[in-house]
Amino acid sequence: MKIGVLALQGAFKEHIEILNKLGVKGVEVRKKEDLKSIQGIILPGGESTAMGKLLVDLDIMSTLKDMIKNGFPVYGTCAGMILLAKSLSNDKKVHLGVMDIVVKRNAYGRQLGSFACKAPVVGVGKDVEMVFIRAPYIKTCGEGIEVLAEIDKNIVAARQENILVSSFHPELTSDYRMHQFFIDHLVKKYS
Ligand code: GLN
Repeated sequence: MKIGVLALQGAFKEHIEILNKLGVKGVEVRKKEDLKSIQGIILPGGESTAMGKLLVDLDIMSTLKDMIKNGFPVYGTCAGMILLAKSLSNDKKVHLGVMDIVVKRNAYGRQLGSFACKAPVVGVGKDVEMVFIRAPYIKTCGEGIEVLAEIDKNIVAARQENILVSSFHPELTSDYRMHQFFIDHLVKKYS
């Protein structure tokens, strides 16, 4: 099994290392052709405006959007979640726009917005390690969305069928359960 990690910008190397540790081949996605040989994709944290622009400039955006709409498994972490959201509460931009959630960017503030904690994630387990870096959270969800985790009543992980998102960076911890969940419950199921 091969899972791609969008490697245009941001924290992609760490995701690839974890996938390889879990016995899956993690491959960098840098151009449209790279989408052909993978069974799922991770959109990493980084800077969503820059990543969104690169997706358009490199002509990946519309193909990836169609693939996700047709059931292709995707996991968006932090900026990746912003890319997947139907709309943003504090930004006019919409990127892939495939998940029925409204997301607030930099929701914890820009300066003091980084912290780590442990919390339960539905289907994943207790005490999942979470690292937040100028993170977004989900303000509202549509009907088909399963809320997987909340911190202080803000939604920080959710799923819509083949789409998984988290506000936090699991790839910056030694807890690989979010990746394992993505492989077992999305990639194996939908691909
Ligand atoms: N604040 C970033 C953005 O809006 C996301 C931060 C992250 O991915 N760690 O794109």
